[in-house]
Amino acid sequence: MESGDGLVVRIRPRRASFTADQLRAIADAALRHGNGIVELTARANLQLRGVTSASHGPLLQVLEGIGLLDSDPNVEGRRNVVLSPFRSALDAELADALYKRISEGPDLPGKFGFAIDTGDTLVLTDTSADIRIESGRDGLILRADGAPGGQPVTRESAVAEAMRMARWFVESGGVEQGRGRMRAHLARSNLPFATTALPAPIAPEPIPGQRSDGARITFEFGILHAELLVKLADCAPEIRITPWRMVFLPDRALPQLPGTITVPDPRLKVYACTGAPGCPQALQETRALARRLAPMANGRLHVSGCSKGCAHPGPADLVLSATRHGFVVARGAKAGAEGPLLKPQDITEETLHKVL
Ligand code: SF4
Repeated sequence: MESGDGLVVRIRPRRASFTADQLRAIADAALRHGNGIVELTARANLQLRGVTSASHGPLLQVLEGIGLLDSDPNVEGRRNVVLSPFRSALDAELADALYKRISEGPDLPGKFGFAIDTGDTLVLTDTSADIRIESGRDGLILRADGAPGGQPVTRESAVAEAMRMARWFVESGGVEQGRGRMRAHLARSNLPFATTALPAPIAPEPIPGQRSDGARITFEFGILHAELLVKLADCAPEIRITPWRMVFLPDRALPQLPGTITVPDPRLKVYACTGAPGCPQALQETRALARRLAPMANGRLHVSGCSKGCAHPGPADLVLSATRHGFVVARGAKAGAEGPLLKPQDITEETLHKVL
């Protein structure tokens, strides 16, 4: 993708997991072929920034050499599967089966994705996905995102049924001009699958720190430099990427590395996209403002460089959406919501309190 600081190259690892050697190679490539900035995305991918049209080819060769490119770019585009970083063998098995079947499935919109979340506690209910294979009351269920329940499935049938649901989505008119999401489609169509009522639970707030099964580490705005990536690679043989701007080191003690956040911190609830000048669509600078407002954030704060809301597609407790003349502010809303307009320099706790 084109961006204000060059091309952005997204790397989509299988099972959201990299080996330490792969991460070292990515860090080296980020320095050689990009500007060294690495971002964690809300779909558990990595993005390298500052790639040029001349360095794009050599970068792809590196990624191919470490097994991170699909032979068919269309298959890679469809391989939009998020799985729990604290996964079981079942999650991994289902993800592998889905990767195999996905190329036979229908053409799906670029943002359309799958989630696999079969642990005792569902952790991905807040993560963007359209078709979910998750734990139900008495076994696995397949949930169309936004549905009040799920279709009972088995380990053997889950992936085939997920593909059947994807085909229904396309055939019943879920895609318009190459775009479409399941939740919006369900608001105007009836799902033709037998489901049992089971409201989606709220996922626990992901927090950094030591867990019994490994270490969780996060970074301000989900950004790290290639040099830090190398240090992380030196801490564990496997590094899993989560959809919460966080990495998980299975079965490892929490390393203390400069530039990481390893305890609850106000910045964890703050989302800010690249903004100006990095993104060509940005109408204002975002990250310095987000940093300034972080200490007063009471809940999720989202500062968006335009109405698209790339950094946080869902609603936030307080959202600031950039326009040419300042930021439109709103509570409990997504980027692009309507509200009063404030100039960046006028945004303080007091002015927000006054206008909202
Ligand atoms: S929300 Fe807008 S300004 Fe921010 S990264 Fe996305 S397109 Fe760019």
